[in-house]
Amino acid sequence: MKKKVLIIGGGFGGCASAHILSKNKSLDVTLVEKNKYLGAGVRTLFYGGHPYTFGPRHFLTHNKKIFDYLNKHVPMRKCSEHQFITYVERDNKFYNYPLHENDIKQMPDKNIIKRELKKKKLFKIKSSKNLEEYWINSFGKTLYSKTIDLYNKKMWMVDDNKKIDTFNWSPKGATIKQGPRAAWDKAISAYPIKKNGYNDFFDKVFKTKTKVILNAKLSVSNLKAKKFKINGKSHKFDIVISTISPDFFHNYKLGELGFIGRDFHKIVFPTEHVFPKNIYFLYYANDEKFTRLVEYKKFTKHKSKTSLIGIEFPSKNGKYYPLPFKKEIKKAQKYLKAFPSWYFSIGRAGTYRYEVDIDDSIEQALEIENIIKNNKYKNAMPIEKWWKL
Ligand SMILES: Cc1cc2nc3c(=O)[nH]c(=O)nc-3n(C[C@H](O)[C@H](O)[C@H](O)COP(=O)(O)OP(=O)(O)OC[C@H]3O[C@@H](n4cnc5c(N)ncnc54)[C@H](O)[C@@H]3O)c2cc1C
Repeated sequence: MKKKVLIIGGGFGGCASAHILSKNKSLDVTLVEKNKYLGAGVRTLFYGGHPYTFGPRHFLTHNKKIFDYLNKHVPMRKCSEHQFITYVERDNKFYNYPLHENDIKQMPDKNIIKRELKKKKLFKIKSSKNLEEYWINSFGKTLYSKTIDLYNKKMWMVDDNKKIDTFNWSPKGATIKQGPRAAWDKAISAYPIKKNGYNDFFDKVFKTKTKVILNAKLSVSNLKAKKFKINGKSHKFDIVISTISPDFFHNYKLGELGFIGRDFHKIVFPTEHVFPKNIYFLYYANDEKFTRLVEYKKFTKHKSKTSLIGIEFPSKNGKYYPLPFKKEIKKAQKYLKAFPSWYFSIGRAGTYRYEVDIDDSIEQALEIENIIKNNKYKNAMPIEKWWKL
């Protein structure tokens, strides 16, 4: 008899799981999605003829196997020339993001910064207790106050960065980079060639053997008995792959996990290009309400006399960014540990890890295929590396 698999959520993690597992003849796969379409925020929509997604959704990976996998479904264009910059109002200048050694030379307070950077060696950066301490220990008070302080307060909607007590995720790295930006410059950077972005990847799920239920209303009838209610009807499954926040399945009994959401605005400008050549994202490190701007044309390369810019505002709308607070992460781990071995929680919300990106969600789906194929279910933490604190 075929094993019945339930996939919850039709974002990248759910659709990758559907593609991969529906090929296994011993599985009968159902995917439920609460929206009327697949792809979540990675779905390409159009405004004034311009393709855009909810935020950049730029594909970046160190794993060639993952790139090859995606490239087979949606042909990708490599864009290793991409650069990100950040606006620092105090200096009224744009610098590289992450900061580059050469940026310091352009700064009006470079002498103070150099003095502070020299002291850096005295500090134990890794044993810092919170984000503020971590960054001051990494590159001094001056750079912290003009590039990190306000950005992180708005990004995480906190009044004090001392409340942020995990920082390995912090995207700028612990030091001022010398030469190429190690992590990013070595990664494969790419974006779909077709104007409809990743949409074919999502829509091809309908061509697999997966039963897709859109506009689905899901509830748990009895987790131990493997029973789930979909649109009011109870179903039993053998394996569950969920991409949504794990608290939902435990009736929030330890409390609801905290997330930051996003409001997204789009503006068309009357010029062919808005950002300088090779600049794909602009970060704003000051008291503006927004964090990041993206010029979609940089990725899509479509021709138009105008250009669309997307702007992200941190908000309470949506569960997009798991909070980088140890207390919340520990709560998430308790929820995850309480799941039985046939239950996989993947993706950004599912693992409650900010670091989980498009490539990671594909990698997780591939790992699950392996576990199922080799019958290697383990208690509670089937793919442990994703849940380290
Ligand atoms: C603004 C923003 C920008 C980003 N930019 C990038 C980027 O440039 N590069 C990159 O690699 N990653 C980026 N990411 C992250 C990346 O897109 C995701 O980590 C990745 O797509 C994996 O998504 P997922 O499947 O885990 O979850 P999601 O995409 O969130 O999908 C979850 C799905 O579950 C559905 N759902 C929720 N509740 C239920 C329910 N009760 N029943 C049924 N369905 C439900 C949702 O509607 C959604 O479709 C970005 C994320 C955000 C928020």
